[in-house]
Parts: sequence; structure tokens; C-alpha cells
Amino acid sequence: MNNKIEFVHQQFMEISKKRFSQSSFNTWIATLKIMSIDNEVVSIITHSTVQVNYIKGQYQESIIEILEDILDQKNIQIKYLVDADYYKEERDNTENFQINKPQEDLNISASNYQKTQLNPKFTFNNFIQGNGNETAYASSYQVAKNLKNTPYNPLLIFGGVGLGKTHLVQAVGNYLFELNPDQNILYIPSDQFVTKIVNSIKNNTIDQYKNSLRDKKLIIIDDIQFFAKKEKSQEELFHIFNYIYNNNGQIILTSDAHPNDIHKLDDRLKSRFKQGLVTDVRPPDLETRAAIISLKAEELNFSIDNDIIMFIANNINTNVRDLEGAVKKLAFYHSFRDKPLTINKTKELLKELIVSKKTTLNIDKIQDIVSQYYNIPKDLLLEKTRAQEVARPRAIAMYLCTTQLKSTTQSIGNHFGGRGHSTVSHAAKRVQTWLNKKDAETHKEIEEILNIINLSTY
Ligand code: ADP
Ligand code: MG
Repeated sequence: MNNKIEFVHQQFMEISKKRFSQSSFNTWIATLKIMSIDNEVVSIITHSTVQVNYIKGQYQESIIEILEDILDQKNIQIKYLVDADYYKEERDNTENFQINKPQEDLNISASNYQKTQLNPKFTFNNFIQGNGNETAYASSYQVAKNLKNTPYNPLLIFGGVGLGKTHLVQAVGNYLFELNPDQNILYIPSDQFVTKIVNSIKNNTIDQYKNSLRDKKLIIIDDIQFFAKKEKSQEELFHIFNYIYNNNGQIILTSDAHPNDIHKLDDRLKSRFKQGLVTDVRPPDLETRAAIISLKAEELNFSIDNDIIMFIANNINTNVRDLEGAVKKLAFYHSFRDKPLTINKTKELLKELIVSKKTTLNIDKIQDIVSQYYNIPKDLLLEKTRAQEVARPRAIAMYLCTTQLKSTTQSIGNHFGGRGHSTVSHAAKRVQTWLNKKDAETHKEIEEILNIINLSTY
């Protein structure tokens, strides 16, 4: 390889490392290899079409900017070459290296991918495993790993909206496509599936349609609760389902409810759906929510303080889609300013997303609960004494007010004997540092106090 390309490659990696978040860099950029530079066309080798699609969607503009800077040239274009083998060969033989796959193969692979109807942004890599999705994750991963001797067929994942069902089942598809782009995979939302069936019946082409599904190694049908409304097509659906099954195709299904609870669903379909493994997704717990928020922020290249992560995690516990919405909103606001985002601004920006369930909770109530918990008279908690026995519970009370309420730090300060807003922010940050250090005592105490708060409010 010539020196110029090597130089550009190294520069590119160095700048990208600073430009992108660590996880984006490691997942998507670090494995790129600049192969050749021909006037304004830079050819880059990638692992897979999934990687190409993702990069095109997320990082293309930044990559072009970086290259234009390094090469001091405008109108740079990128040509992506997909070659998983390269990485293996490169290791074996650094000197004599060639691109194996001609351009046509790339086009075939890209068009194969389009046929799957998968979305490249849903992968196992960017899915946070945690409380609420552990069995759904484990069984999806099992299916991806063992497609040939499918352990669960069908695999059905059910649960509320925005909890990662579509993400997980598409991750299986993307995983398998990346492994082998020739595998016949299909992702199809149930309404589309029903429309296809209804039209095929109308046009007398149902046999052709069935035939087209015969070679599918994996069919993912999303949101099967939709079938319930389509009583007429259920009969045909049952046959198609058996057909795929008998041709050794793996089927993965999602639904918003357990099959038993889907009304107007044919009993034969119900029992078919339950034949493999039925598993659920539940809303994530606090820790998982915090991890998801960090990941989503990182994906947006948005650096976010821990106290803000915890505020969102504490106050949005509906589903992941809402968490994502909150992060996007903050990142958007933040992209126009240099200053770090404050907790007060966060509360203001997210006020519509945070439907306070704790209508009866207020600063006074938190102070009561904390003073009882630590057995300290409430007026001491509010006074300015710096004694350690009081200072720590006071900081914790301020932390809880900051993270649990919509009140501004200003108004919290007022209720703590007329302190300034920065005292409150500092106290909250100090407690957050103890939590970050995994200080067991602080963890236990805060958890217990939160339990009392949750029991005494609604
Ligand atoms: P569902 O199909 O259950 O309604 P989705 O799979 O569409 O939910 O998820 C909603 C959004 O939340 C998607 O953008 C998805 O990437 C994201 N998401 C859900 N669960 C997770 C998770 N555990 N880790 C990362 N992202 C998640
Ligand atoms: Mg979905």
C-alpha cells in the first residue's frame, strides 16, 4: 500500500476518534479501511452492507468533511467496498492484499438486503440488555446463533409499545444477513402481510405468493395482534404458516399481547403461535433506563451529565421510545449552544414528556420523609449547620428533590432555609458522585427512601 493512502488512513482514524463518540467510533468507524484515492473518489473497505447502510445514514457527511480536510480538496466522494474476507486475509497476508469482490457482488448484496425489508439500525450491538428484556434478548440471540437447528419455532415476543420488540427481532435478521447475505430473510409487518394475502386471494395468485415464501430461512412478522381484526384471512394465514414451518423456515413473531389475550384470533392460530417459545418484554428498570439514555446520547454524539441522565431515568419510566424522544429533544436544543445543559433547562424542555404521576409529592414531603428516615428533626435539616450527621442527609434530600420533582433548583434552595440554587446543584452532584462510585451505603439509603416515597405518593 502506498504511503499517501496509509497516511490519509491514519489521519482519518485519529480525527474520527475525536470527532465521534467512543462507541460510535468503535462500532462503526474503527474497522473501516481506506483502500485507494483516485482524484476525488476515496474507496473504503467495510465489513458488511449493514455497516455501509448505517454509515451512509449516520456519518456520511462527517466522514466526507474529515476527508476533505485531510486531502485539502472539495467534492470528495466515497465508494464503499464490502468485503468481510478482507479482514481475515489482511491478518494472514498484509503484503499481498487484493480486493476480492467485484462491484457487481456489492450490488447483489445491497439489493438482497433491500429485499429483506430490514432496517440496518436495529442490531444486537446497539441493544441494551437489562432488566425487562433479558429472556427476550437471550432467546432472540439463541435463534440467531442456531438458525439451522432452531431451538424455538416460532419465537414470539410480546409486550407493550416502545419496549424494543421490533428492534430485537430485526437484530436477528441483521445478524444473519451479515453472516451470509445470500440467506433468504424477510421482515414484514402484519398489516403488509395481510394485504399481500388478501390481494393474492383476489388475484388468484395465492399459490405463487406461498411459493415465494418457500425458500425463506427466516420470516419475521411484526405485530401479529393485527391479524385479529382480519378474520377472513386467518384461515389462509394458518396454511401459510404451516407451509413455512414445514419447509423448515424459522418464524419470529411479535405482538402487543400474549396470544391468549388477543381477542378474535383463531384458536388454531393461537395454538400455533404458542408452539415454540413465548416470551415477553417489560418496561426497563432504573439502571437499564440510565444505560439506554447514555447509549442514545452517545449515538447522537451528545455529551450529557450524569445528573441529567438520572433525572430522565427517574422521571420517564413508560418505555424506551419516550426515553429516546427525551434524549433527542435535549440533544437538539444542545446542538445550538456551547454551554452545558443544566438540570433546570432539562426540566423545562421535558415538561411535556414528564407526566408527573407523583402528584402529591413536593419538596416539603421529601423533607419530611428524609428527616424521619435519618431520625433528624426537620428544622435541623433546613438550618445551615454543617455537622456531618445533618449535612449528608440534607444533601440527599436536595438530591431527591432535584431528581424527583419538576421544581427548579432555585425554588428547592428557597425551601431549604433560603439557600442559593448553586448550593442545591452542588449537593445533588455530590450525591451523584457517591452513587457513581457505587458507594453501597448511599445506594441502599436512596433506594429505601425512594421506596418510602413511592409508597406514600400516587
Ligand atoms: P416496540 O416494537 O416494542 O414497540 P421498538 O423496537 O420500536 O419497540 O423500540 C422503540 C425504540 O426504542 C427504538 O428506537 C429502539 O431502538 C429503542 N429501544 C428499545 N429497547 C431498547 C434497548 N434495550 N436498547 C436500545 N434501544 C432500545
Ligand atoms: Mg414494534
